[in-house]
Amino acid sequence: MLSKLRSPVLVPWSTSCADVLQPHYSIDLREPERHRIQITLTVTASRDELLLSLPCWTPGSYLERDYVRHLEGLWAHCGERLLQPQRRDRHSWRIAGISSGESIEVHYTVLGVESSVRTNWLDAQSGFLTAAAWALGVEGCRWQPHQLSVLLPEGWQVATALSPVDGGWCASDYDQLIDAPLALGQLAQLDFSVGGVPHHWVWQGLLQPAPVDAWQEDLPRLCSSVCSLLGTNRPASDDYLFMTRFTAEGYGGLEHDDCTALMFCRRELGTADGSRKLLQLAAHEYLHQWNVRRLRPAQLRPYRYGGAVLIPELWFAEGVTSYYDQLVVLHAGLCSESDYLSDLAKDISRLLTTPGRSVQSLLESGTEAWVKLYRRDSHSDNQQVSYYLKGALVALLMDLHLLAKGSGLHVLLQQLWERFGSCQRGYSQQDLMAAITALDVDLGMFVEQWLSGVDDLPLGGYLKNAGLLLASESCSVPFTGLHLDLVQGQLQVRRVESNSPGEDAGLSPGDELLALDGERLRRSEQFDQWLLAGLDQQLLICRDGAVRSMVLSSRPPQPKSWTLRLDPEANQEACRLRHRWFTGPTL
Ligand SMILES: [Zn+2]
Repeated sequence: MLSKLRSPVLVPWSTSCADVLQPHYSIDLREPERHRIQITLTVTASRDELLLSLPCWTPGSYLERDYVRHLEGLWAHCGERLLQPQRRDRHSWRIAGISSGESIEVHYTVLGVESSVRTNWLDAQSGFLTAAAWALGVEGCRWQPHQLSVLLPEGWQVATALSPVDGGWCASDYDQLIDAPLALGQLAQLDFSVGGVPHHWVWQGLLQPAPVDAWQEDLPRLCSSVCSLLGTNRPASDDYLFMTRFTAEGYGGLEHDDCTALMFCRRELGTADGSRKLLQLAAHEYLHQWNVRRLRPAQLRPYRYGGAVLIPELWFAEGVTSYYDQLVVLHAGLCSESDYLSDLAKDISRLLTTPGRSVQSLLESGTEAWVKLYRRDSHSDNQQVSYYLKGALVALLMDLHLLAKGSGLHVLLQQLWERFGSCQRGYSQQDLMAAITALDVDLGMFVEQWLSGVDDLPLGGYLKNAGLLLASESCSVPFTGLHLDLVQGQLQVRRVESNSPGEDAGLSPGDELLALDGERLRRSEQFDQWLLAGLDQQLLICRDGAVRSMVLSSRPPQPKSWTLRLDPEANQEACRLRHRWFTGPTL
């Protein structure tokens, strides 16, 4: 089995190893404590100028991050001749005064100061490099192989999905380079196989012993369950790598064709809920091998790294993936039915307490991802609904609808894979609707409404058909629509729900609550206890340094959470449907 971990590469790249026509990046990480990634790009000019640019976003994370803000000290030379790169725009440069066939060296430094799965991080202990955030692209070379070598601190290793070559790695083109992050440092690894395909689970950052035995047993089962959704026993990749970085508080994942980068809270790993959450995260990114990477919206074929593109299909790419990331853990027998129902009820509660679900449709959520979901603030829940969250619940309804007809959402996924993913054709929203309608005409009409409308989803009815009762939990606190935080002894408004008593009173995020009906407020519990539903109460607040008085008239309590439980009166048909749903497809 091929090991993904490489020994330190401490020799400079030899030009004899590389085709000099191909861009070659040499990355020097030997002073990691300075957080500086020193890069030398060597490329042979094919005309009298060289155009270089850095992506402003990375696929899978729909935010213009302007990675160029962490790039500094760009200079270039051709032999002894110093060249002056000219800025063309925010992300790109032009190097003139050269001739075709000349070998140009471009030097620059990138700061590794952002720890996430979509940025660069480097310190004395570890590193994580996101190619979109460091690899200057050379115009005209996008579809050529790109070579990479890395100079490492002593004792460090590299994990990457790129193919190893003598002295480094090779990407078949610039897109594959962008799709291949590097995990760096002292890495631990376990290997397993799924359908004969090698898999590697590489991790770093744990302070406690790793649950290696549990991972060795659980991960192959999890991956097999994901493969079963696609009607296969092997993944789309022919060699798959999980790179997991454990940190104090982080959480996140980013999908790639042949690997994924995960970030997870090391303390949570020791809990049952945390272990399940890690499996869900791994399943999510693993399913993305198909859904969104190879089975990809047409707008993302090819990727346009220079700026935002509108992707209304994100409800499918992320929503369906999110629906299954919880369900396949149950399919694999790695959580209980009650765990699954508890997670599902939490998602339903989150949706039903998000006022933005009545404002933004699911299709709008996808197209507005760049300016809303990825740029959240204290008003976001009033304006938007997550395509992950509502998309997953639409996927649930689609699955229950199709399972009742003897089919299932996995059948749609398999058909789309056959029609688009396996032959690398991009799909559109119209293609999705045509495929859904071809499976079930009624479902096509329903999905159209669920995606374009802002009415609440018919969750209770569909769940009842599967022998489950969705019920709200009673709440005793009068409703104000205010969400409070205690910040350095101040009771502050974090969020004000739209169309709520708090909004009617004129409250804003950031306001400090001082007193209610003349009584000094110190804690949020006092505020909850002193509210009198239906009565006008005097609220003293401080905003912008000025104290002012407001009238707050709270309403009777509203539900904040919902639960799911088995319906004792469910008929056989409902029980059979639930059994098929919880068991998953078999090959
Ligand atoms: Zn995702």
